[in-house]
Amino acid sequence: MVTVTRHVEAPIEQLDVAAYTIPTDAPESDGTHEWNSTTIVVVHVEGGGKRGLGYTYSHAAAAAVVADPLRALVEGRDAFGIPSIWDALGRQVRNLGRPGVAASAISAVDAALWDLKARVLDLPLCTLLGAAREDVPIYGSGGFTSYSPARLEEQLGGWAADGIARVKMKVGREPAGDADRVRLAREAIGSAELFVDANGAYTPKQALLHAERFAEHEVTWLEEPVSSADFAGLAFVRERSPAGMDVAAGEYAYVPADFRHIIGAVDCLQADATRCLGITGFLRAAALADAHGLDLSGHTAPSLHLHPCLAVPRLRHLEWFHDHVRIERLLFDGFVEPVAGSLHPDLSRAGHGLELKETDAERFAA
Ligand SMILES: [Mg+2]
Repeated sequence: MVTVTRHVEAPIEQLDVAAYTIPTDAPESDGTHEWNSTTIVVVHVEGGGKRGLGYTYSHAAAAAVVADPLRALVEGRDAFGIPSIWDALGRQVRNLGRPGVAASAISAVDAALWDLKARVLDLPLCTLLGAAREDVPIYGSGGFTSYSPARLEEQLGGWAADGIARVKMKVGREPAGDADRVRLAREAIGSAELFVDANGAYTPKQALLHAERFAEHEVTWLEEPVSSADFAGLAFVRERSPAGMDVAAGEYAYVPADFRHIIGAVDCLQADATRCLGITGFLRAAALADAHGLDLSGHTAPSLHLHPCLAVPRLRHLEWFHDHVRIERLLFDGFVEPVAGSLHPDLSRAGHGLELKETDAERFAA
């Protein structure tokens, strides 16, 4: 007689959260924001004899939300029942406002739960999710508006020289100089694809004017030309932008309705698992994009996105974001470096394969 186990349980014994603030290597800015440091909120969940890790890039306020009220809803639950925990977490923050800090907090918890489940099953996370591909193409991302022309050329040209076939720079802080900076970048990267990100800095008409100028330098990706909250403005730019230039947005989509609203206003949907309610939310965003015939691009936090990006349909690429690459290389054992412009998972490691170097992290404790 064959015994079938129908109900597997791995009770979650403990959830821990910590925030670390890491200074940038230089002052950074984009079209609408300036910063000197980045805070990563790291969640660990223990159960079934294993420890899962998740994180979000946010503010220490997200760590406070994880500690209270989220922690009490996770401890004691079955690590195999992620959707039920996910529902409970979403309900719990209704009156706090689910988008924003609360969604980022839930994202870190959800990622830790997926990692724990894979580790309890002793599987790479991409195997648990179901791999759709063997590697994930990346694009180098930085080119901050605070950079000197020399630094801009060095960074973007360096990625292109390393075999990364597409790179992204920031625009929109001083629009009058944008076309010149884009020309410099084009000269530095040769035939690599060039992306620009305005972080919502332009008006719709201003965005059209710049799109035409950028087209002269073969820019193929125009990210957040106008505010992501302006769906009509995004759609206006998308409909009128030059052939061969895709309009993209989605990094500020926290909840499913945010993705629903942005579909129709973009040529490629971006999603960030550290904001959009975790790996669970990312998979659902990918399904929505697929249903609308749109490609998906992973936004920042490359180490966390590698495994879910191996599993989703219609993946276009994943962002190899300068700040997060630097932090993840510093803080995580199991950090995967790109080979020929793609990330290949280490299938000898269970879960997403990352371990926090706690001693190294301690000096950045927020
Ligand atoms: Mg962006």
